[in-house]
Amino acid sequence: MECLFCEIAKGNIPTFKLYDDGKFIVALDVNPATYGHIIIFPRTHYQTILEMPKEEYCQLFNLARIMIRLIPEVIKVSSFNILYSLGVDAGQRMPHVVLHVIPRYKDDKVAIGWEPLKMSQDELRKLQDYIINTLTKKFGNTPTPSQQQKPTPTRQTANEPQPKSSQQPQESTQDLTLP
Ligand SMILES: [Zn+2]
Repeated sequence: MECLFCEIAKGNIPTFKLYDDGKFIVALDVNPATYGHIIIFPRTHYQTILEMPKEEYCQLFNLARIMIRLIPEVIKVSSFNILYSLGVDAGQRMPHVVLHVIPRYKDDKVAIGWEPLKMSQDELRKLQDYIINTLTKKFGNTPTPSQQQKPTPTRQTANEPQPKSSQQPQESTQDLTLP
């Protein structure tokens, strides 16, 4: 059988489409986790987000953000999960990128959580060193060469406050303009 999402994109499988700009489709999930659960996927057959050009990847996640702003206009809800699964062990069932935007309600039956893996401060520090050292050996000082900012890993102890991001997200109503 062909890829389900490609077939939907071609119009061979009917769906409850909400939006289609020729590049991305937003539709109701036919097996919704909750009321208002939607899916967003590219028309192009990308197996994972790693195959997507950066621009399209950004558009995909931006669409999720737009939907999170728009859904409360029609459904009384203020909590959401964005779910993306890459790989079989993560729950990817179709070989096509799909983002789930799941509205969350008090006492809904959705379970997204985990038993924390027990790792000591020492084990975490070793893992941190291992990751940084391995990436530094491979890529030099910057694991992401395209970024200008050098990552400055800091060691956290239990008593230290969470590091705050220096960049506050810029809220823009321009994003609400659908193309
Ligand atoms: Zn496909």
